[in-house]
Amino acid sequence: MGNNQHPSNIRDNKIELLVCKSGAENCKEHLLIINQCYSDANTFHLEKDYLNSIESLRNAFLMTCDLRHDSCVECANLFRTTIADSLENINRELHILTKGMIKKKRYIKSYKKSCAVLDDVKREIKKIS
Ligand SMILES: [Zn+2]
Repeated sequence: MGNNQHPSNIRDNKIELLVCKSGAENCKEHLLIINQCYSDANTFHLEKDYLNSIESLRNAFLMTCDLRHDSCVECANLFRTTIADSLENINRELHILTKGMIKKKRYIKSYKKSCAVLDDVKREIKKIS
């Protein structure tokens, strides 16, 4: 097995598969934007454009924080967890890329950004829950 994973597997979008408990009546527009940002983030990640990937995840996260209908509390929490997981993965990946014998300087900025955004996201999740 090489690392030529099929794109459709990589692009498997967990958020898109989630169903809003209230039939997306109150979150349809939020959901559209969240999914758009989330799938952009996946695409940027595939292209190793980490800065834009992190930024897209941050935008998706901010949109979930704006989703305040009582009927959507659970789906918003689930979206936030999924986005935090993605950020965690990117953070881990960048950590590896910036450590070791040959430090890849071009990833340091991305790594710092991923740490900062992940901290913000975790703090926000704690505050909400
Ligand atoms: Zn909903």
